[in-house]
Amino acid sequence: MAEKLLAVKGMNDILPPDSARWEWFEDTVRRLMARYGYRNIRTPIVEPTALFVRGLGEVTDIVEKEMYSFEDRMNGDRLTLRPEATAGIVRAVNEHNALYNGPLRVWLMGPMFRHERPQKGRYRQFHQLDVEALGHVGPDVDAELILMVRALWRELGLVEGRDVTLELNSLGQIEERQAHRAALLAHFQDHYAELDEDSRRRLHSNPLRILDSKNPAMQAMVDAAPELIDFLGAESLAHFNAVRAVLDGAGLAYRINPRLVRGMDYYNLTVFEWVTPHLGAQATVCGGGRYDRLIEQLGGKPAPGVGFGLGIERLLLLLEAVGVPVPSSVPDAYAVLPDAAALPQVMPVLEALRAAGVAVVLNAGGGSMKAQFKRADASGARHALIFGPDELARGEVAVKPLREGMASQTSQALADVATWADRLRNA
Ligand code: ATP
Ligand code: MG
Repeated sequence: MAEKLLAVKGMNDILPPDSARWEWFEDTVRRLMARYGYRNIRTPIVEPTALFVRGLGEVTDIVEKEMYSFEDRMNGDRLTLRPEATAGIVRAVNEHNALYNGPLRVWLMGPMFRHERPQKGRYRQFHQLDVEALGHVGPDVDAELILMVRALWRELGLVEGRDVTLELNSLGQIEERQAHRAALLAHFQDHYAELDEDSRRRLHSNPLRILDSKNPAMQAMVDAAPELIDFLGAESLAHFNAVRAVLDGAGLAYRINPRLVRGMDYYNLTVFEWVTPHLGAQATVCGGGRYDRLIEQLGGKPAPGVGFGLGIERLLLLLEAVGVPVPSSVPDAYAVLPDAAALPQVMPVLEALRAAGVAVVLNAGGGSMKAQFKRADASGARHALIFGPDELARGEVAVKPLREGMASQTSQALADVATWADRLRNA
């Protein structure tokens, strides 16, 4: 036998029946987005490397060490598999002048790529729901986006406060961050001896990222560092307080986390994360914030933006950890054919049932009655349709319920499927 070829490490296949969870999640998202007036956008998975370097910032984990970048051998272009969605969406909006007629609310779902060490909840190809509101200064849409995520949790059966909690912070504006950065730099320089190698390297390029350090030896020193909130001016504070007022009014509890900075350089003002206690170190299920300079930074006419990314694998793991029941997709009926030669007569009936909205699985490939019924059971179908020679001779099919507590077996006329098709569904 030839050697089996395997998937790339950290990149997962999603097979049935697990794929039913994905479809259920995606359907839920589509309905929710429509209710909030967000529309679907689709952008390429491959983008010019420069987009992410310029968009995310050179001294970020993603750009420094997580990007799948390569040279197009045909023409030498520097390309990257998208590690996140915001930069690509902003590029597309700029390229198509999509804000010309006013603000835009969009969402997408799809794969992202980061070269990280694979572990539970952390993969090299993973999927995000990404939602962006472009052209609004906020704070109204900031709060609305956060509440939309809460609505998603509720729809999915997650409990806020128990399964997911909101952490909130404001990063202020560039000038405020610069003043804070100077104070931070002074603090870290005073404690230079305690900094690890990574942090020393970041001291001058991006001292803010030192706050993100997970090194326990540095924790006390990091905790004592000056907080950005004390450097915010009146306008930034007003924006932050307005977001909070809407969340308070909506009865959403949150924790203000002054250390929340997020992994990309483009954020300002509102930043937030939804975290869970159920997934160990992979605690952040959803994160986002405002990025009022990004559109301009990527060559567009200046316009503000705010959005979030939600990790779908992590969310599905969370639903599993919490034990949320996920509707499975099983067929309504399984067609059993004692004599395969009857198929030309049977197939039009199956086609009529499907046209009437009934999910029917055909027993393909023959087999004994016993084998066919075994497959019918395994399919999870609620009914077996038995096209036996006697039934067919009478112009009928036997409909046999496969679950306990269902009505007894009946015979139905092949000629008028429409009159009984409905009973196969949701029965
Ligand atoms: P982390 O701190 O866990 O590395 P992050 O800050 O890099 O997360 P974001 O860039 O904010 O993550 O992406 C948004 C969401 O996408 C995360 O909250 C998470 O749910 C998900 N996510 C990010 N990286 C991965 C990954 N490698 N595998 C699976 N999900 C991921
Ligand atoms: Mg990360």
